[in-house]
Amino acid sequence: MDAQRNDPSPAVEMGEGRMMDEGELDFGFAQEVSAEPGGEGIVKCFACGSCSAGCPVRRFHPTFNPRRIIRMVLLGMRDAVLRDPFVWLCATCFTCQERCPQGVRIADLMRALKNLALRSGNMPEGIPMQVNLLREKGTLYPLDEFDNKKRTKAGLPPLPGAHEDVGVLLGDLADLGRPKEE
Ligand code: SF4
Ligand code: SF4
Repeated sequence: MDAQRNDPSPAVEMGEGRMMDEGELDFGFAQEVSAEPGGEGIVKCFACGSCSAGCPVRRFHPTFNPRRIIRMVLLGMRDAVLRDPFVWLCATCFTCQERCPQGVRIADLMRALKNLALRSGNMPEGIPMQVNLLREKGTLYPLDEFDNKKRTKAGLPPLPGAHEDVGVLLGDLADLGRPKEE
């Protein structure tokens, strides 16, 4: 008798010898991603690998692989995708998006995954720090007296160190990083 066929909880190979039980999969995840702005075309992917071949981040970080991320989403590996920091490695350079023969908007898809990860409370520490800086100073690189001295030397007018109006625009992001209450 084929023991595997009768296994009530089949497993999915994750690579590196790790197996995943079917019970850990979320079969609605691909649909959830498709419903996010930018995630619409994910089901068109036929796994050709052109995106991964051209990805500059993959060249330096071999564990980052857009094709693999897409397969994981389509298989329903919700937790593995959203809890892993690798979705945040995408530099939004659009190389993959320009090369995809199926018209999958991969860079937009990565942004959709970042948004989903954010809503489930998973993001690098640097993100809320950057948002706080934007809210308080209106820029990620606030200018100080030293910068303005260099500008004066170069014949340029001084610039303000902060842009408070940006903080007003970012008001809705005050709760960034806190998981949504059910
Ligand atoms: S290039 Fe497009 S079709 Fe090919 S693996 Fe990447 S997303 Fe899928
Ligand atoms: S947009 Fe992201 S996934 Fe696509 S090639 Fe650039 S870094 Fe890689």
